[in-house]
Amino acid sequence: MRVTVVGCSGSVPGPRSAASCYLVEAEGDGSRTWRVLLDLGSGALGPLQQYLDPREVDAVLLSHLHPDHFLDLCGLYVMIKHAPRAGPANDPPRRIPVWGPAGTGGRLAQAYGLAGGRDMSAELDVREWSDGGPVRVGPLTVTPIRVRHPVPAYGLRVEQTGRVLAYTGDTDSCQALDRLCADASVMLADAAFVDGVDQVRGIHLSPARAAQAALDAGGVRRLVLTHLPPWVDAEEGARQARRVWLGPLDVAEPGAVYQV
Ligand SMILES: [Zn+2]
Ligand SMILES: [Zn+2]
Repeated sequence: MRVTVVGCSGSVPGPRSAASCYLVEAEGDGSRTWRVLLDLGSGALGPLQQYLDPREVDAVLLSHLHPDHFLDLCGLYVMIKHAPRAGPANDPPRRIPVWGPAGTGGRLAQAYGLAGGRDMSAELDVREWSDGGPVRVGPLTVTPIRVRHPVPAYGLRVEQTGRVLAYTGDTDSCQALDRLCADASVMLADAAFVDGVDQVRGIHLSPARAAQAALDAGGVRRLVLTHLPPWVDAEEGARQARRVWLGPLDVAEPGAVYQV
């Protein structure tokens, strides 16, 4: 499989990147390519259209319900509902599976301002994670693992035939990261905080904490720091991580592609 960084800006969209969104593509049986999104945060629906028609994704997998991770599902809902489609006009739109924490359907309706008990169930097939319970999407097995953040949040372990992509979502250091990230070919790690500057705990990893999590998990081959806010210096982030992690390291940028 491969993963493309659609948006990687932390907490808010930045001048050069949308907020969190990663496109995972994997070949299934019969040469069908499966495409899933890890998060669809604020601003990400725009650049996503450089890669595919967003209505064609096989599933959207949400780490948690902060706006920088889910809000552009409102835009996807509008596209499904109103953008012209090929094929007979009377065909009902394809419902896109959306996996997320408990309450995802209600949050989407609230975010869009749907009133009177209306929801997005004609457009989006919303399902809820259960901690540690794997979900199959085509050739991919995705295991949500509860992590440490002020709201219910999951890291996502994406596997295909022994290859592992680990996405921490938003989290501070926690034991769950060992199970999430063990033997990952690529670990996409929240590194929103700056070592020595951001002292509050329980919200985000810093570069050094992300690097330590990669070491602790064991078998991680490439560490990719992501979710750096626009006000954080990426080069300094990389320097902080390199004090702990000596293996391959990148700071995520929009358009970057990693083979997993
Ligand atoms: Zn975030
Ligand atoms: Zn968050």
